[in-house]
Amino acid sequence: MELRVRLLNDAGVSRHGRYVLYWCRWNRRVEANHALAYAAGIANRMNLPLVVYQRLTAYYPTACDRFHTFELEGVSGFAAAVRALGAGFVFQLPDSGRAGGEDRREVFAGAAVVVTDDCLRGTPRLDTQLIAVDASCIVPAGAIGQRCYAAYSIRPRIHKVLERYLRPVPRVELRRECRESFAGLHTEVAPGDIPALIGGCGVDRSVPPSTTFRGGRAEAERHLARFLDERLHRYARDKNEPSAHATSDLSPYLHYGYISALEVALAVSERARERKLMAGEFLEELIVRRELAWNFARYAPRLDSLEVLPEWARKTIHDHRRDRREYVYTREQFDAAATHDDLWNATQKELRLRGKIHGYYRMYWGKKILEWSAGATEAHATMLGLHDRYALDGDDPNTYTNILWCFGLHDRPWPERPVFGTIRSMVRSGMERKTDTKAYIREIDFLDRMGKEPAG
Ligand SMILES: Cc1cc2nc3c(=O)[nH]c(=O)nc-3n(C[C@H](O)[C@H](O)[C@H](O)COP(=O)(O)OP(=O)(O)OC[C@H]3O[C@@H](n4cnc5c(N)ncnc54)[C@H](O)[C@@H]3O)c2cc1C
Repeated sequence: MELRVRLLNDAGVSRHGRYVLYWCRWNRRVEANHALAYAAGIANRMNLPLVVYQRLTAYYPTACDRFHTFELEGVSGFAAAVRALGAGFVFQLPDSGRAGGEDRREVFAGAAVVVTDDCLRGTPRLDTQLIAVDASCIVPAGAIGQRCYAAYSIRPRIHKVLERYLRPVPRVELRRECRESFAGLHTEVAPGDIPALIGGCGVDRSVPPSTTFRGGRAEAERHLARFLDERLHRYARDKNEPSAHATSDLSPYLHYGYISALEVALAVSERARERKLMAGEFLEELIVRRELAWNFARYAPRLDSLEVLPEWARKTIHDHRRDRREYVYTREQFDAAATHDDLWNATQKELRLRGKIHGYYRMYWGKKILEWSAGATEAHATMLGLHDRYALDGDDPNTYTNILWCFGLHDRPWPERPVFGTIRSMVRSGMERKTDTKAYIREIDFLDRMGKEPAG
């Protein structure tokens, strides 16, 4: 456990604290949550109750109906699960005019110790001891201990210790029940109230909820069950064919912490053992690729800059900066899915409608933005901006890492071509040869016209 834990400030334990606070900023679940379990352990040792605190702020530029809905859809289930443990639950929903606020300070003021998720969110100044726990990775980032520059370098490090970490997290048991009342500080969320609650937040209503994904733990479990029953056995064969629907669609649920990579890996490994299936390809994505992204997020000096690219990639971008581009689109044209390429437009529509793009076509989406932007800096800003606006799995280590992958991160030089230089390129003819592009375009057109997935 210790390799998952980091002390984030020098403040001591508050002697007047009435409870231990788990400030949930990423892992919105009670199951398989190392941070919650760690907070519960401290509470039991101090003979104090545990309080779980969740806050959904509207105080960031891309706060919108889609993200608020996906998070609010998870609140009532999470609250019920937390209360069933005997812990207290406080949820706050400030409007877009409020950044910090008295209400938040009051919750922190009662805490003896604050435990939070080790994640991309910045570290606030607190007068109380603040501890971060890595509940997102299977092998804690601290156990790798250094930046890895490619999948081949992190893979052996992960596999060396994986068995030690691929174990269920014991169920949380609390000694003291929480009797604290947070009247006036807590907002109750009933599923039927969500549109009205969002209406009061002042967030952008022009990005509607996903056509496809509903938030919450139950939905995460439903997606996992569907993957195990209907998709795992054909994942390795069909994962690059969008119309085959063979991938898990778990990335929004992993990003919001409704489910943990650990639970998914355990469930997939068990099903593979029972049914004699090959799960290696899936586990490579879920563990090695995903944890390479978390490793990057932990150790890279910046996440959102082309400056962190390897030397060869920065050089080739510089060398090809003046190459003539056959098409040049603005961020607005990309956003509106208004390019000359109906396959690319379909990928952008999928992002706008569903809130994610199929993994294989997401590479095409990124590579073409690089090819059809005025320059690499513009392309990078467009990719980040479109993720910030629409992606339910955006603002994640995977977002920053995979967008930079389009520019050569964690990759190697390829034969030289115009515009791309030695960065790996993708072409439409290749997509047509390897996948059923027409079926995908038809499917997204249907979704665009009907505003919902076909029944069944
Ligand atoms: C330009 C670009 C942007 C991307 N942005 C995001 C993003 O914002 N958020 C995000 O989660 N992923 C992102 N990815 C990675 C990948 O496309 C998605 O993780 C995957 O498509 C999610 O769908 P799924 O859950 O059905 O994946 P599955 O194939 O079912 O994989 C299961 C899980 O493994 C992990 N995974 C799969 N592929 C990768 C990968 N290449 N790198 C790291 N982890 C992976 C994800 O957590 C995923 O949910 C991006 C890829 C590209 C090329």
